[in-house]
Amino acid sequence: MANKTITIVGAGLGSLATALRLSYKGYQVQVLEKQERAGGRLNLLEKDGFTFDIGPSFFSMSYEFRELFDSIGEPIPFELVELNPLYTVNMAGQDRVFQIYKDLGKLAEEFKGIEDDFEVKARKYLKGAREIFHDTEYKVIKKNFDSILGFLMSMATVPMKHLPKMFRTFWEELERHFDSEEVKIIFSLVAFFLGATPFNTPSVYNLLNYTELEHDGYWNVKGGMYKIVEGILGLLDKKGVTIQYNTEIKSVKHSGGKLSSVTDQNGKEYTSDVFVINADAAWFRGHFLGRKKYSVEKLDKLEWTLAPFTIYLGIKGQIPGIHHHNYFLGDNFKGYADTIFRSSVAPKKPYYYVNVASKSNPECAPEGCENLFILCPVPDRRVKPNWDDADTLVDEIIEDLGNRVKFDIKNNILTKVVYTPIEWESMFNLYRGSGLGLAHGLNQIGAFRPSNKDEELDNLYYVGASTTPGTGLPIVVIGSKLILERIENEYPTI
Ligand SMILES: Cc1cc2nc3c(=O)[nH]c(=O)nc-3n(C[C@H](O)[C@H](O)[C@H](O)COP(=O)(O)OP(=O)(O)OC[C@H]3O[C@@H](n4cnc5c(N)ncnc54)[C@H](O)[C@@H]3O)c2cc1C
Repeated sequence: MANKTITIVGAGLGSLATALRLSYKGYQVQVLEKQERAGGRLNLLEKDGFTFDIGPSFFSMSYEFRELFDSIGEPIPFELVELNPLYTVNMAGQDRVFQIYKDLGKLAEEFKGIEDDFEVKARKYLKGAREIFHDTEYKVIKKNFDSILGFLMSMATVPMKHLPKMFRTFWEELERHFDSEEVKIIFSLVAFFLGATPFNTPSVYNLLNYTELEHDGYWNVKGGMYKIVEGILGLLDKKGVTIQYNTEIKSVKHSGGKLSSVTDQNGKEYTSDVFVINADAAWFRGHFLGRKKYSVEKLDKLEWTLAPFTIYLGIKGQIPGIHHHNYFLGDNFKGYADTIFRSSVAPKKPYYYVNVASKSNPECAPEGCENLFILCPVPDRRVKPNWDDADTLVDEIIEDLGNRVKFDIKNNILTKVVYTPIEWESMFNLYRGSGLGLAHGLNQIGAFRPSNKDEELDNLYYVGASTTPGTGLPIVVIGSKLILERIENEYPTI
């Protein structure tokens, strides 16, 4: 009897990790991808001799990648590089730059004269964050849930001492430990990764400070983030996994409680025993399966993460005042955080992140040049559908950055590409251009998040940012492990 066949729609990281796990178990896997290249948001842009990672530029929990390759008995096919410092933060109106180190002694030096007894306070704060991380890791994140009751029962086993953190905000928790605005602002930046602000994110998520500052830190890949994708593709090829590019699934057929086929833009139908969807798990259910719970009206009422506004610049010359990973913050942090989700106009005095991969990987830019990737989080397209004013925001950021790093960026641009939320939406079918998918409020995690197993069609599974456990590179890798568990149980290889 032939081994089971599995079709995966989409070739983002969640898909590639799933294809690896399944193919090494003996399943016959084919992947269908809309774009001409694999990786989804973890993708590459090559232009005029410059190479840019278009989305993710670093990640936490590197051990999830180690687990992935260990589980298939292969060495990691790329080189992990730990970030040290983790990143730098430029505050508006201050001439100094904060280097954020994992080493709390060194970090205390950065906050000298700003936060008294920083190290003692930070250790106390991180102790609480560490406890909540380890008390929830296997009860909430690394677990499949089949019912809300099961999820709530698992949550109920989390020690009661963490309960007050459900009712405090991230910012309030920081206020209990630190006095200076600088420390509070810098420590709260991770909340934006969840698609919320520190003022409306529950303080349980200060576990993210533990993951960055104490646990595993942040990691990069030598030669650029796309090496992750290239490394996985090499292994998939060895296992005979086929990836068909420029193939967008436009409709699906089902009967007898099973998905029977998916059909591409040319009308070609693909059948298999099992299907895994790597397109957005909430959008797919509404758009392709007509589920009322995920109609456009309902999707619009969910909480989505901010949309990316990204600028890729090839620059002549080397910029001394900038590092590999940099945040540039304005003043008025709370005011900015409050309006950023709601404003229908491009942000004024924007906050943004700048990645200069050529600082660590010179091969990403021609000799004597730098490649800049700038990410400015903006409202998704429910709030700001139109981006005719994109140039204003681009000019404002370039001007502000040039002033702050004291380098004439504007007149040294050799190449420039801009993706507004419109491009992000159309490139990868990201709902309303939301960059990280569904947000992670307590009402959108675990059994409250779209499940990784379809509610009605028995042979249909999901992996990626908007299903469980959630978004981010290591988290979708965990997601691939969770659906392997389900598929192996429910559809054994032979
Ligand atoms: C600008 C930006 C910066 C980020 N930075 C970081 C970071 O620094 N660190 C981090 O950990 N995470 C970061 N993230 C988040 C991270 O990129 C995502 O969580 C992760 O890559 C999601 O992977 P996924 O498996 O959901 O697949 P996706 O990347 O969403 O890929 C899904 C694939 O499915 C394809 N597809 C969709 N619909 C169809 C269809 N109908 N037919 C065929 N194919 C289809 C798409 O083209 C795409 O290739 C960032 C995201 C963005 C946008």
